Amino acid sequence: MKAYALEKGKAVYRALQAKKVHTMVDVLPATHNMGTARMGKDPSTSVCNSWGQTHDIPNLFVSDGSLFPTVGCENPTLTIVALVLRQADYLSGLLNHGEI
Ligand SMILES: Cc1cc2nc3c(=O)[nH]c(=O)nc-3n(C[C@H](O)[C@H](O)[C@H](O)COP(=O)(O)OP(=O)(O)OC[C@H]3O[C@@H](n4cnc5c(N)ncnc54)[C@H](O)[C@@H]3O)c2cc1C
Repeated sequence: MKAYALEKGKAVYRALQAKKVHTMVDVLPATHNMGTARMGKDPSTSVCNSWGQTHDIPNLFVSDGSLFPTVGCENPTLTIVALVLRQADYLSGLLNHGEI
């Protein structure tokens, strides 16, 4: 995945006429893997709604970095935690009202 992403990144820079492309792939130990169960309004382009509830199965919730529709440039964990706390409130409301 890293090698693939690196080549794609280089291609972007080359397309932008970069004179030189530097890579740091061997010195980066961390990974921020996000996406694959992205949230969104449209079930044809997303897996979950903005609460992490899957469009297809109402009582199935996703609570991790896979919810992200895109990747920012900063560390994701606090945003993952904020989304999960928000989701817990929503979930508790649904359970209390017998909606799921
Ligand atoms: C070395 C390193 C450093 C990092 N440093 C930072 C940082 O400083 N700040 C920051 O914000 N982010 C950092 N990150 C990224 C951050 O750790 C991740 O983005 C975040 O933990 C993702 O959370 P998650 O809940 O999506 O997945 P994870 O934290 O990976 O949780 C997934 C869980 O699912 C479990 N699991 C997997 N498969 C199964 C299965 N089949 N059945 C049951 N359980 C399963 C795994 O054991 C794991 O506990 C770092 C990542 C790495 C690798």
